[in-house]
Amino acid sequence: MSDCESMPAEVRDRLRSIPAVHELLAEWPVMKAAGDAGDTIVREAIDAELDAERTAIRSGAPARNKRELALAIERRCHRLSLPTLRPAVNATGVVIHTNLGRAPLAPAAVQAVTDVARGYSTLEYDVATCARGGRKEHAARLLRTLTGAQDALVVNNNAAAVLLVLAAHACGKEVIVSRGELVEVGGSFRIPDIMAASGAKLVEVGSTNRTHLDDYRCAITPSTAMILKVHPSNYRIEGFHEEVSAAELSALAHEHGLLLYEDQGSGALLADGVLADAGEQPTSASLCAAVDVVSCSGDKLLGASQAGIILGSAQVIAACASHPLMRALRPGKLTLAALEATLRLYVTGSDTAHREIPVLNMLSGAPAPLERQAKRLHDRILRKLREAQCEKAVELQVVEGVSTPGGGSLPTVELPTFCVAVCPVDGRLSADGLKHALVQEPDTPVVTRVRHDQVLFDVRTLLHDTDLDLCASALADAVQTGLRR
Ligand SMILES: *Cc1c(COP(=O)(O)O)cnc(C)c1O
Repeated sequence: MSDCESMPAEVRDRLRSIPAVHELLAEWPVMKAAGDAGDTIVREAIDAELDAERTAIRSGAPARNKRELALAIERRCHRLSLPTLRPAVNATGVVIHTNLGRAPLAPAAVQAVTDVARGYSTLEYDVATCARGGRKEHAARLLRTLTGAQDALVVNNNAAAVLLVLAAHACGKEVIVSRGELVEVGGSFRIPDIMAASGAKLVEVGSTNRTHLDDYRCAITPSTAMILKVHPSNYRIEGFHEEVSAAELSALAHEHGLLLYEDQGSGALLADGVLADAGEQPTSASLCAAVDVVSCSGDKLLGASQAGIILGSAQVIAACASHPLMRALRPGKLTLAALEATLRLYVTGSDTAHREIPVLNMLSGAPAPLERQAKRLHDRILRKLREAQCEKAVELQVVEGVSTPGGGSLPTVELPTFCVAVCPVDGRLSADGLKHALVQEPDTPVVTRVRHDQVLFDVRTLLHDTDLDLCASALADAVQTGLRR
């Protein structure tokens, strides 16, 4: 018996009643969508909507009429024509949220990106000589000023920096690393894997919780090129723990003619405020301790664009810059423009940096302004819910909470914050359902946390006043949608 014959007659009738593509194309919402989004998107939306309709009917759902289908197709066209990479509202309180693009840029950095993006630029043009210049110089001068390093090099991200330093200085040679520092940073970056890709040979020493200077000393052979120290960005070993300081390691390395390389990960340029409280060392401190090469990310604690920054002696940097991999790892002009503009804020002074760079600003957010902001968000949400006549479906409350730095940075730091807690009281709603709808329904997804069946909007990471409105209308829509089900 075929599939068709085994179906109840009414299901077969409903399937037969589904309008044809040309009929749907003649419906006004679909014609309008075709004008906005183009024929390709409309065809894709019709096919997908008709597939969904057939599946629904086969599992017993009633058929929708032509008008309902046309409206659903219009909505689908709208969703399909939104960019997949688009702005989102971060209401999680996680400041350096890797899934949400890590560091938001300072206004000056945004301006610099726009200026360079809209036309030609001096990317590789030296205005002093009217001749070809190098893209290497752009952020390098400011990095030298800020860190005291002899020279600097920018690549695509810190993973690229680690790869390049190892390839340029330790390919075919041995690199000594403590077992306590064989770090995995989220998203498949593991020190042993990068090491293998660079052609360097990993020599592990010590144990997970304790490594001594003698462990390093005993591992040195004629094939050793480098000692690598990796900042445990995203974890801390507490209790019975010992590691060797950069100063001691540099003495040992230099005694044997080896390089000491520190992968600093988070990349703090300043050592005040929350960074100092967390015991985070600024990049310049490593260089003062006679570390030969330091690398870090541009978009973690530094608060600029996705980049990897390599700092060191002129000789060390020159070898990285002339390595064939450099061409594959070099940053684009937009990255460099944002980085240079952000570094300029640091050069202006610590106060300017803390005020203008969103990551630093959010990390140092004080409780009183956060509480005021949470009350503002509470009121706007309440107004939107009242407009939608669904304020009785949830309970709203301003509550204390904890935000985290994120991005695998400052893992032990907890930042006291204020949140608006939304507790569903209508049986048709659930916190998880609302959280899901807040991401799925609006053009600008609003990302929240759920705790104890409450949706939490942490105001620490709401950057703009418009973010409050987006949270409020997205929640009102999510509640309404939930009540309709
Ligand atoms: C984050 C991090 C990396 C990777 O940096 P990306 O900029 O994400 O490529 C490497 N090492 C350490 C210690 C880190 O914290």
